Amino acid sequence: MIKYDLALRKLLTRARPLNAELTPVLKSLGRVLREDICSPMSIPPFNKSAMDGYAVRSADISSATPQSPVELKVTEDIPAGSVGKKRMKKGAAARIMTGAPLPVGADAVVMVEDTEKADGCVRIMKAVEKGENIAYAGEDVRKGQRILHAGTLIGPAEMGMIAATGRDKVKVGIKPKVAVISTGDEVATPGMKLKRGQIFDANGYSLTGLAVYRGAEARFLGIARDRSGALVVKIKQARKFDILILSGGVSVGDYDLVQEILTEAGVKMLFWKVAIKPGMPTYAGVHKPGFVLALPGNPVSCMVCFELFVRPLLDVMLGKQEIGPRRGRAILMQDARMKPTRRKFLRGRLIEKGSRLYVKSASSQQSGVLRSMIESDVLIDIPENIEKVPAGSEVDIIYLE
Ligand code: AMP
Ligand code: MG
Repeated sequence: MIKYDLALRKLLTRARPLNAELTPVLKSLGRVLREDICSPMSIPPFNKSAMDGYAVRSADISSATPQSPVELKVTEDIPAGSVGKKRMKKGAAARIMTGAPLPVGADAVVMVEDTEKADGCVRIMKAVEKGENIAYAGEDVRKGQRILHAGTLIGPAEMGMIAATGRDKVKVGIKPKVAVISTGDEVATPGMKLKRGQIFDANGYSLTGLAVYRGAEARFLGIARDRSGALVVKIKQARKFDILILSGGVSVGDYDLVQEILTEAGVKMLFWKVAIKPGMPTYAGVHKPGFVLALPGNPVSCMVCFELFVRPLLDVMLGKQEIGPRRGRAILMQDARMKPTRRKFLRGRLIEKGSRLYVKSASSQQSGVLRSMIESDVLIDIPENIEKVPAGSEVDIIYLE
């Protein structure tokens, strides 16, 4: 059995970022940025009013109070989107709306609530500091500033920020193409009638979902019988995909022949059997140009192995800066006992108490209990050769978010 870290390295050293493509910023959510974003201009591009009110010279109104307001002559009106034409002279004010450029000569804005309209004039009832209620040019972003790095996952804020620099298209990583095949004579298609001895396919669905969730374009190729010649054909067809994921049939049961069938289909093995629990029978191989991962059929093992192997592989292909799921630490809430052999990945749920982060391991750690994945938001990563982790110990966690 190969250790997890070594197995992952074997896989990732063969992976390269796929090419990038230009996509409309509006469609870039969840994609991986493949260029640095520098702003060609300051944001905001000009000093602007942060309030609806009056642009003034602060020195003119330094004595203003509600009891003795200062009266200023209103010389112009500046709505957002237009530019004042006059240079502000002593004793003058300009009516200004939020977002409108500050007129030359003004150095502050008095909010409308602190004023009173008079005929052609305005009574200012409160003094303001120089610079008050002004959003300065470059306050958000300086001209030339790098605001996003290549390899960043684009979220809503990133979309807005890219657009704010004037871009309507952005370079993102091409989505890796992932094919999913479920194997097993007992596995039936949901929506059909279940015969005795059959179970519905869960893995085809969870794996397709995971692949899309982690940035790929996924296609479910259906269920293949154990020992089927059709599986060989399917595997060969899947060569045009960047990653082919199979579930089931990788153990050492009499009908677990996926490894043999993969060899027959021309796949070169990278590793088979990893010292982890769940997921020991995991197989990885390459068939030019794609990767093949054959994951154990138990629905939990299958999902956990996706996170442990396929997710980092996708991250590399997408050109992501951070590879693999986010890790952290949390305090274990109850004793955990286990066989001191392989490295364990227990399902757990995070609980925040004050400033501390606790993790409660799922009630069932059976690799067939898919419900435990629904109840969990992290994996607890326990090193090999440990028999007991007492409650209160700090443990490594892997976020499934
Ligand atoms: P295997 O890895 O083929 O030995 O399967 C291990 C266990 O997972 C068996 O109980 C299978 O019935 C079950 N299993 C295999 N494939 C699937 C699937 N696609 N959906 C749900 N359970 C499965
Ligand atoms: Mg099977």
